[in-house]
Amino acid sequence: MTVRTRIAPSPTGDPHVGTAYIALFNYAFAKQHGGQFVLRIEDTDQKRSTTESEKAILDALRWTGLSWDEGPDIGGDSGPYRQSERRAEYDSHCQTLLEDGHAFHCFCTPAELDAMRAEQMAAKQTPRYDGRCTHLDAAEVDARIARGDDHVVRMRVPTDGECSIHDRLRGLIQIPWAQVDMQILMKADGLPTYHLANVVDDHLMGITHVIRGEEWIPSAPKHQLLYQYFGWEMPELCHLPLLRNPDQSKLSKRKNPTSILYYRDQGFLPEALLNYLGRMGWSMPDEREQFDLAEMVSAFDIDRVSLGGPIFDVDKLTWLNGQWLKHSLSDEQYQQRLMEWMCSESFFVSVLPQLKSRIDVFSEAGQWLQPLWAKDVSLSEDTLGALGLEQDVLANVLQFLVWRFESCGSWNRQVIEQEIRWVAKAVGLQLKDVMPLVFVVLSGARQAISAFDLAVLLGPDRTRARVRAGLDVIGGVSKKGAKRLEKSYQEALRSIDTELDAN
Ligand code: GLU
Repeated sequence: MTVRTRIAPSPTGDPHVGTAYIALFNYAFAKQHGGQFVLRIEDTDQKRSTTESEKAILDALRWTGLSWDEGPDIGGDSGPYRQSERRAEYDSHCQTLLEDGHAFHCFCTPAELDAMRAEQMAAKQTPRYDGRCTHLDAAEVDARIARGDDHVVRMRVPTDGECSIHDRLRGLIQIPWAQVDMQILMKADGLPTYHLANVVDDHLMGITHVIRGEEWIPSAPKHQLLYQYFGWEMPELCHLPLLRNPDQSKLSKRKNPTSILYYRDQGFLPEALLNYLGRMGWSMPDEREQFDLAEMVSAFDIDRVSLGGPIFDVDKLTWLNGQWLKHSLSDEQYQQRLMEWMCSESFFVSVLPQLKSRIDVFSEAGQWLQPLWAKDVSLSEDTLGALGLEQDVLANVLQFLVWRFESCGSWNRQVIEQEIRWVAKAVGLQLKDVMPLVFVVLSGARQAISAFDLAVLLGPDRTRARVRAGLDVIGGVSKKGAKRLEKSYQEALRSIDTELDAN
């Protein structure tokens, strides 16, 4: 058997370090067994998937140094590798399930489903689809479809007993069927859900080992059942532990930068990032901390992955990056990498307009570029205090900015200005009242290029990190304070959006 593994990102946001971590372990496992590693884009969520995100994910994974044997960019024998281009497969497989009686049409409206859920919650039951449409007779189903009634296709799921799943790292996992929902397989828009598309593709692409994050364990019973319904052999499952913040919570951009692009733009080496990710739940047999991808592949043993939640600690990653810089690059490589990071052509193309309008001699360039080259900016409570805003207003503005910047779909001058305006409005200030604060936290200087240009050039992750650092300088936000801010943020979301709708 040729081992075939895959990484199957959904292109709905920034390229996440968690994706690189799962990709790395899949890569190491496949390569160590002389197998293949496939990249598949799971873009069945049409509303949230974007081509920019897909491009960013491919670029970021390539930047880490990982490569794949088949994928949407390079093709392969099991393509296409984008789920949006595989609809015919899902349609025909869904049809098979319907014909064999393993799936059924469901015509329940959102209101009916809400009422069902409310009743179950009131009776302290796990909310799940109660199976009412399984009782519709075939003639009625045909008539309703012919009439054009909205419907989805759901899979049948047993109601009694337990489902037993074998996981390579965790052994037998038992989940009562009562906790497994009659999953929607085909949505009302005619597109498959993750579950159907994922199982059909893993089978058709010959995937032998599904190595993914533990957040997918609850999906495993549905997937196993689908494999049984189709009469296919299921790949071996291996659910890796999730990466965590230093406070043990699930790694999230609220607490740590999670985008691979942040680490690239801050000047981390891809080798160091992969090396660090390789230490998440796994270690070299000789406990050596520094190793490269080839060394990891030859020593890799998936059965030695430990399940305690691995902590993704930016300080430790920074230390490891330092080891790489100090000991593992030749002078030439060092120089070349530094040039690539500091003075790439694309960097200069983006900053040229800023310099052209400002400097008379090149020796003035450094002062304008410094905020872009800096790891972070030096800020003091006094500098922020001197802006004339009350401490709680400062915290309010900065926290709201972090949250707004977290949810931006795209990143350009217009979006940034819109978000800052939104925050100003939400705290009852004018744009001109909050701009000096934004300027100071982003530049740490009295004189710099405009805050909008800085934010554009820094990118969303570095911008957010600086705003968050500003928040830390004024002592952060307490748990209680965060709750209060969260509440007023939700209120502002409602009221400002209503106001905008009205205009
Ligand atoms: N598209 C899923 C994700 O975004 C893939 C999960 C899996 O590996 O099955 O993580």
